Amino acid sequence: MHGGTRELACSGTKRRTLVNLGGLCCAFGFALAGFAAPAAADAPRPNRILIEYVPPKNPDHQKIYETLKGREVLEKLQQIFSPFKLPIDVTLKTVGCDGVDNAWYQRPTMTICYEYLDNIAKTAPKETTAAGITPQDAMIGQLFYVVGHEMGHAMFDLLNVPLFGRPEDAADQFAAYLMLKLGKDQARRLIGGAAYTYKDYVEVKKVAVPQTAFADVHGAPMQRLYNMLCMAYGADPKDFGDLVEKGYLPQQRARSCHNEFGEVNFAFQQLIVPQLDRDLTKKVLDQEWLPPATSPPPLADDSKPPQ
Ligand SMILES: [Zn+2]
Repeated sequence: MHGGTRELACSGTKRRTLVNLGGLCCAFGFALAGFAAPAAADAPRPNRILIEYVPPKNPDHQKIYETLKGREVLEKLQQIFSPFKLPIDVTLKTVGCDGVDNAWYQRPTMTICYEYLDNIAKTAPKETTAAGITPQDAMIGQLFYVVGHEMGHAMFDLLNVPLFGRPEDAADQFAAYLMLKLGKDQARRLIGGAAYTYKDYVEVKKVAVPQTAFADVHGAPMQRLYNMLCMAYGADPKDFGDLVEKGYLPQQRARSCHNEFGEVNFAFQQLIVPQLDRDLTKKVLDQEWLPPATSPPPLADDSKPPQ
């Protein structure tokens, strides 16, 4: 039964902690495991992402629910992932999780908690950061990063993609790879915004953690950040050269990034690209997905969506 162990996978970002201990999301996932109805497999075809905005029970989530719907955020993600030729329908849903701040994939559903989105909205910078990350891009980048990560788990599972190495690292790389493929200007904005996920860790130069922290299924937050920046620099050392010049990515690591990106690119081309609808892929890659850089932030305000 291929992919049996892949049906449960979680983002494990676990914001505001110094290390990922990972127990929360996985324990939560396993508690739900027995309730998944088996989905009938079909001939693989594109356009198999379904979306659902589950109305929140917590009134604190009402605004974010309405903003997401008003801006058709899930509809856009549905389009971006439409080229993947899948054997079953997969649902991307936003839902209240009774206080749990997380996201996960459990076949056939990707769940993003309103708590997680609320956290992104609340912790976004009020103005453009010293590193040049706008409030808008911090929100969109982080949202895309978490959805891309869960999509990675889903695609590895449903497209029967074998993995060497840790599934959580592979899901991070999948998300970073997609951000980098969505055009030059958009890639910079997406990667910069996604990097904001780790803002609480960047300023902490030394950490002390229990030994067991290293047993986690996820990399430590700074490793995940460096991996993402390395992918970006490896994909385009010119456009992302400032990551090294400004010290966000240590020179010592930067040297191997061309090869690291190359390995992911090779895997993607070999294992994923043949399972994409070519015309839809071209359409997705040709489209501008991000609103103009001057638009208001997407999650925290209730202004009109950008045209
Ligand atoms: Zn994960």
